[in-house]
Order: sequence, then structure tokens, then C-alpha cells
Amino acid sequence: MKSWRMYVNGEWVNTEEQIEVVNPATLEVIATVPKAGKKEAAEAVDAASAALPGWKAKTAAERGALLMNWFRLIDEQKEEIGRIMTTEQGKPLAEAIGEVSYANSFISWYAEEGKRIYGEMVPAAASNKRIFVSKEPVGVVAAITPWNFPAAMMTRKVGPALAAGCTVVVKPAELTPLTAFKLVELAEEAGIPKGVINVITGDAAAIGETWMADSRVRKISFTGSTKVGKLLMKQAADTMKKVSLELGGHAPFIVTENADLNKAVTGLMGSKYRNAGQTCVCANRIFVHESVEAEFVEKLKKAVGELSVGNGLNEGVEIGPLINEAAVQKVKNQLDDAISKGASVEIGGEAISGEKGYFITPAVLTNVTDDMTCMIEETFGPLAPVTTYKTVEEVIKRANNSPYGLAGYVYSENISEAIAISEGLEYGIIGLNDGLPSVAQAPFGGMKESGLGREGGHWGIEEYLEVKYISLGL
Ligand code: ADP
Repeated sequence: MKSWRMYVNGEWVNTEEQIEVVNPATLEVIATVPKAGKKEAAEAVDAASAALPGWKAKTAAERGALLMNWFRLIDEQKEEIGRIMTTEQGKPLAEAIGEVSYANSFISWYAEEGKRIYGEMVPAAASNKRIFVSKEPVGVVAAITPWNFPAAMMTRKVGPALAAGCTVVVKPAELTPLTAFKLVELAEEAGIPKGVINVITGDAAAIGETWMADSRVRKISFTGSTKVGKLLMKQAADTMKKVSLELGGHAPFIVTENADLNKAVTGLMGSKYRNAGQTCVCANRIFVHESVEAEFVEKLKKAVGELSVGNGLNEGVEIGPLINEAAVQKVKNQLDDAISKGASVEIGGEAISGEKGYFITPAVLTNVTDDMTCMIEETFGPLAPVTTYKTVEEVIKRANNSPYGLAGYVYSENISEAIAISEGLEYGIIGLNDGLPSVAQAPFGGMKESGLGREGGHWGIEEYLEVKYISLGL
């Protein structure tokens, strides 16, 4: 068992109190990490603040070169990082290694994009004046990340922040902090100067409060629950920080009468069961046109029945454990509620024998109605509720009937129908005949209570920049 330290101002530091990290597949304690409070949180900001002038003064190419060093080290060690991730988070090893590559794509993409932070010269209102508009790094950035993507949620924030010339203080989720520590160990090896990235673990509420109250922190980028996102936004108001929030989702997955059902099943398998259903863009409500429901459910049941559930380190496993007991209980509660209201379990929803961990087999429900909890609340687990619809107008209305607006999916081979539904959905990301739309160069983010701002692409770097206008009198 390793006792990890946290990384502040280029030093690996510890605290007296410790937090245990548990493997959700075996329930073994695999490591301990420091339990920081307000004092350490403030010290991390001291470090990031002190490092800011030097980092900001580097050229974009210099920062890009250091980011590319980091990228190469991560790429060389992706198997080891994947193994750490599977052990703390549960996802199958191949999926964990896939996440490391995905996470790393944000570093290489922004290493390049940092070179394209263009300003503008605008025609002035008078002949003896000139208007210059430039973009500057916003300053010290606080990044608070969740446990479901321990690598990608960190690099999606740190990549563009560093490329823009900002320095960062990061708090990974205490459930999965080891991947973040491993990544920052490689950042140090890559030559990223001390204080530019600081990573601490501890009392989340105390750290969040300290960072939000500190006027030197100019930006909060958060991924996690809507509840904590709203709290951080309120706390950030006092010092008027820039805010990016990636919060919950409740994705509709619409299979029309014109869908290619094989494509739709493949898309749903990726969208619903990746990371055992623990992603904010997971298909959560499956709307199938009544004319194709029987055939679709048959194909889906077959595919789900072939999934192998177990410890993610074992060869061939496709679904690992959930993150903790509360996550399993939430799925069970949604199942019980749906069954009590008339849903039928087509497959799954059971414990697996001989395993201590937080396992539940992937489930498919039919005869689902909109009053069931699984159609109202985000599941964050491997439960696929299938409901039917009759008309395009009806399905758009039902799909939009949610405070969330992150991802939505549409399967249709009829272009007019596909566009009508895609345009009708109040969602920030639409997977049109695509179950896995998230990539480094595209804007990821939600509408309504799913959040603010976008991560990825040229949109993602704007979140870390301020506009400065210089009016020059000649
Ligand atoms: P989840 O329900 O997925 O765990 P959370 O929003 O609770 O989502 O967690 C996401 C991140 O927010 C984690 O790093 C967690 O430690 C952190 N967090 C939780 N509560 C607070 C808080 N009060 N202030 C700041 N960060 C918090």
C-alpha cells in the first residue's frame, strides 16, 4: 500500500490526517492520501499565484513544448496510469487506458491551440485613434474534478488553462485521487515549473470555500454534481470569478422508426454502459418508436447479455463495479421504484456471486413510464429504461422535460427527421447516429442546469482568457 503525498509549489507534502482510498472491486484499502484543510488550500494558491508571472511570460510555443513533454510521458506510461485508475475507480483496464489517451489528447490539442490565441485590430471611430484587442490569461484557476474520469476531467481543465498562461490549483475527488497524483508526477518530470500545477486532496468543502473566497483565484472550473456546482457558483460570486460548470445530465436516447437498429444498439451500448453507466453523458432515458420497440429490445437484450461483469483488471471484463455502495443502492432503488409502477425487467439488475465489490449487472427495463424515478433523476449506473413514443413532436417534448440539458442522442436514417429532432432538443451536445461524441476538438458542455461554459476545441481555451481592449490615441 502506498502513502501518497500531495503536490504544492513543486514539493511533495503530507498532512497528519489521512484519507483511505478503496478499490471498489475488492473493497481493499489501496493507498492513503493527505487530508488538507483551509491552510493547505491557501498555500496552494500562494504557490500558483507566485508562479503566475513567470508562466504567463513564457511564449505560447514554450508552454506548448512543456505540455508536449508531459503528453509524451503520459503516453509512454499509459498502461501504468490505466492500472492505477482501474484499481481506484473500477473501470475495465482497456477502458482506463482509453481514458488516459483521451485525457492526453486535451494536452496535445491545447499545446497547439495556445499558439492561436489571436487578438484583433478594430477600425477606430476617429482617425487619430487605434483599437487593439488582446486576450490575456485569466490568472490562477481552481479546478475541482469528479471520480468518474480521474484523468480526463483533470487534463480537460489543466490543458487549456496552462496553454492559456494560467496556473492551477487542482482538487481531484477523494475517491480517486491517485491518477491525478501520478499525472502531476509526470508533469514535474516534464519540466513544468514549480507552482504552475498544484494538486491537493482533503476536506472538499473547506478547500472549496477557501479557494472561492480567495480573490487571487480568478476562475473556477468544476465538474461534478449540480448541487455542488450551484454552491460553488454562489461562493464564486463574492469575488466575481469566471465560472465553468459541467454538471449532471439526463440524456434522452431517441430511436426513431427510421433508425438503423443495429447502429442504434451499438451506440446505446457505448453511451449507456461505458464506465458502468457512470458518465454525465450516459443515455438515461431511451425513447423508442413504438413500431420498432420489440425488435430493438430483442437486439439490446442480446448485446447486454453478452457483457462480462467483474474486476476491471481481469482479461475480457467489460463492466466493472460501481464506485461505492450508495451508487449501487441508487440503481436498486430506481429498479424497485420502476417495478412497483409496472416496469418489466428484461435482463440484469442483480449482484454477481463470489465478488465483494460494488457490482450490479447491467439491466434493461421495458414498460417504462415518465413518472418513474429513473425517468426523472440521473441514474449514474448500468440501468437502461426503455419507453415508447408515437410522434416526433411528442418525443421532443418528453425528452426536453428535464432541468438538465447536457447530451442527447438521436438515431435516424431520415435526414429531415434527424435534423428536426436534433434542432428540437434543448441539449448542448447531440449524438446524431453517434453514441460517443466527446473529443478534444469539439465543445463539450450543457444547457439549462447541466452547466455553464464549454470544454474542448477553441471554445475551451476562451474559458481561461480575459479580453483586454487598448484604445490608443495618436
Ligand atoms: P459526485 O456526487 O459525483 O461525487 P460531487 O459534486 O459531490 O459529485 O463531487 C465532485 C467534486 O466536488 C469532488 O472532487 C468532490 O470532492 C467535490 N466537492 C464535494 N463537495 C464540495 C464542496 N462543498 N465544495 C467544493 N467541492 C466539493
